[in-house]
Amino acid sequence: MMSVLVLLEQRGELKACAFEAATVAAKVAQAAGLDVNALYIGQALGDQSAQLAGLGIAKVFAYENNALGHYSNDAYVPIACDLAQELGAKVIVGSASALGKECCASVAGRLGVELAQDCVDAWWDDGLKVRKPLYAGKLLAEMRVDSVPAVLSLRPNVMAAARDGGSTPEVVRRDMPEVSLRTVLKEAVEAAAGTVDLTEAKIVVSGGRGIGGPDAWPLLQGLCKTLGAALGASRAAVDAGWIEHAHQVGQTGKVVSPDLYIACGISGAIQHQAGMRTARIIVAINKDPEAPIFKICDYGIVADLFEVLPLMTDEAKKVLAA
Ligand SMILES: Cc1cc2nc3c(=O)[nH]c(=O)nc-3n(C[C@H](O)[C@H](O)[C@H](O)COP(=O)(O)OP(=O)(O)OC[C@H]3O[C@@H](n4cnc5c(N)ncnc54)[C@H](O)[C@@H]3O)c2cc1C
Repeated sequence: MMSVLVLLEQRGELKACAFEAATVAAKVAQAAGLDVNALYIGQALGDQSAQLAGLGIAKVFAYENNALGHYSNDAYVPIACDLAQELGAKVIVGSASALGKECCASVAGRLGVELAQDCVDAWWDDGLKVRKPLYAGKLLAEMRVDSVPAVLSLRPNVMAAARDGGSTPEVVRRDMPEVSLRTVLKEAVEAAAGTVDLTEAKIVVSGGRGIGGPDAWPLLQGLCKTLGAALGASRAAVDAGWIEHAHQVGQTGKVVSPDLYIACGISGAIQHQAGMRTARIIVAINKDPEAPIFKICDYGIVADLFEVLPLMTDEAKKVLAA
C-alpha cells in the first residue's frame, strides 16, 4: 500500500512540530486513501511512541542510535529516501524548521521530486495542494503540486495537532545502516537554559533597535518569564551586537507563528514581517504612530516601550495569578 511518510523531528524528544506535520500527513492521506507511516531517527524512542497515539500513524520506523540524537544530513537523508522508496511514499511531510527545511530540500533533491517548502496547510483534492506565504508573507497562495511523489515542509505552529483518540502506532525498529558521516557534531551548546524555543513558542516578545541597547533585554525577559514566552529580536538589534543571531526573526532569521507576538521598538520592515506575519495576534509598541508595524498589528500601542513594558508585565502577573 502506498503511503504518506512523515519525518518526525526530535531534539532529545519529539518536537511539537512533529505532531503538527503528522496531522497534515493524516489529512492528506485520508483524502488520498493512503496510509500514514512515520520515520524517527534519534536516541531511543522509548515510551515517546505513546505521544504519537491518535494521529493516524500506522507504523513508526525507528532508527535508534545515540550518535544520531542530533540532526545529520549525511545520515538522515539517505535513510529517509530509502524508506520513502521502500514504502512507495507519494507525499513526504517534514517540518519547516531550520533543520527540517534542510532535510526536506535534500530528500527532494536526492529523490528528484517536487518540493513545497514552508507551507501553512496542505490537502489532497485530486492531487496534492498546498497553501504557502509568498512575497514575505504579503499573500497566501494556494498551489497545486504538479506531480507526486512530492516533499512538503509545514511551518511550525500554524496548526494544532489533531488527535482522534486512536491507537498508538506500531513501532518497527530498524538497524541503523552504515553511514559515512562527512561532518561529526562534537558539541552542542545550549543558548540559555530554561528559555523557550523561538520557533515553537506560543508567545514571542521581540525587541528591535528601539530598545536602545542590550541593557533593555531584562525588561523584555521579565515579560517573557511572566508569559512563558520566547525572546525574539529584529535584525537591527542582532546587527548591533545586542543579541545572538539565534533570536533573529525575519527573512534572514527564524520564521515564527505564535498565538501572540509582541513587537517592542520594531518598525516592522517587510523583512521582519516575513518572519512573524502569520502570528495569530500581533501587538506593537512603538513611539512612532507612522511605523509600518501598525499596519499589520491587531493591537497598537503608541508609546515609549520603557513605560509600557513594566505596566504590561505587572498586569500580566496579576491576571495570571488570579
Ligand atoms: C536582505 C535583507 C534581509 C533582512 N532580514 C531581516 C530579518 O530577518 N529580520 C529583521 O528584523 N530585519 C531584516 N532586515 C532589516 C530590515 O530591513 C530592517 O532594517 C530591520 O528590521 C529594522 O529593525 P528595527 O525595526 O529594530 O529598527 P528600526 O527600523 O530602526 O526601528 C526601530 C523602531 O523603534 C521605535 N522606537 C525607538 N525608541 C522607542 C521607544 N523608546 N519605545 C517604543 N518605540 C521606540 C522607532 O519609532 C522605530 O520604529 C533585512 C534587510 C535586508 C536588506
